[in-house]
Amino acid sequence: MKPKVFVTSGIPQPGLDILEKECQVKVNPYDRFLTKQELMEEVKEADGLLCLLPDTIDGEIMSANTNLKIISDYAVGYNNIDIVEATRRGIMVTNTPEVLTDTTADLTWALIMSIARRIVESDKFTREGKFKRWTPMLLLGSDVHHSTLGIIGLGRIGRTVAKRAGGFEMRVLYTDVKKAPKEMEDELRVEFVPLEELLSSSDFVTLHVPLVPETRHLIGAKELKMMKKTAYLVNSARGPLVDERALVHALREKWIAGAALDVYENEPALAPGLAELDNVVVVPHIGSASKATREKMAVMAATNLVAGLKGEVPPNLVNKEVIEK
Ligand code: NAP
Repeated sequence: MKPKVFVTSGIPQPGLDILEKECQVKVNPYDRFLTKQELMEEVKEADGLLCLLPDTIDGEIMSANTNLKIISDYAVGYNNIDIVEATRRGIMVTNTPEVLTDTTADLTWALIMSIARRIVESDKFTREGKFKRWTPMLLLGSDVHHSTLGIIGLGRIGRTVAKRAGGFEMRVLYTDVKKAPKEMEDELRVEFVPLEELLSSSDFVTLHVPLVPETRHLIGAKELKMMKKTAYLVNSARGPLVDERALVHALREKWIAGAALDVYENEPALAPGLAELDNVVVVPHIGSASKATREKMAVMAATNLVAGLKGEVPPNLVNKEVIEK
């Protein structure tokens, strides 16, 4: 008997092909997320679950099936899964690191360039037929080259964002829970500074930490006040890292020059007033959204799931304690 797998949403075919070879696969047939009750019904029957970031997988969902062996998250940030609860129940949890690093770093740069050079505003202006003549004061933005970039979280994506900053000849500051080894700092040309110094010295502040209790609202009113009035905040990590209401206030009151966001505190909703502001660029959580990367994520998520169901250690096991039990 092949093990049973439930997939909470359609994923790229190469991932499904891997699953279908080894498992009995059921994919959410609806073009919507399942309710908690519906998801629990599906989990009841499954040996393995492949889920997405918007699926909150808590102890209650896990309790639907004491035989659930593995939860494979189609994401690198696994804040949607209660890891402590999964580990307690002996359920393996896996994620999809590395394959989306470059694509998410590219999107971060797209956000930086878009907000600094007013690309979205300029596009709208041109489409609306307002471009009548070239003038010296038309849609002036800020220079990215030779400015200072502040990276919060020098992990895989943070480091890749730093590498790309070299091409713009920027000064790059970073902060993290720990200082990187000197050789890495030299190679990336980055300087470690405390958060407060990073906020007050950077022209662009970009977030690349995971969402954990310590990083929720890492950027609130106090931190936004520390930033330069001419600086921009960029978030392609997780929405709740930023107090979004405080950000709307800061953007309205011009405490900072602007923000560019891929992620939101209460996704998919935006904080009241955010979408009405001109000094913000908003995109719908497309950090890893290239065709090639989404296929790689599907292959990785499926490979992790199949390995776990075969009794092997999945390549991207998050809660290693579960196999040490
Ligand atoms: P990563 O390699 O784990 O990097 C995260 C970095 O942040 C690590 O250096 C980590 O240090 C550090 N860190 C953890 N807690 C911190 C804290 N409290 N203060 C300062 N630094 C802290 O992860 P990644 O692959 O770069 O991904 C980063 C995040 O990006 C993911 O967690 C995910 O939420 C988000 N993401 C978003 C998209 C999107 O579509 N927009 C796509 C991919 C990823 P340690 O290693 O010592 O813990």
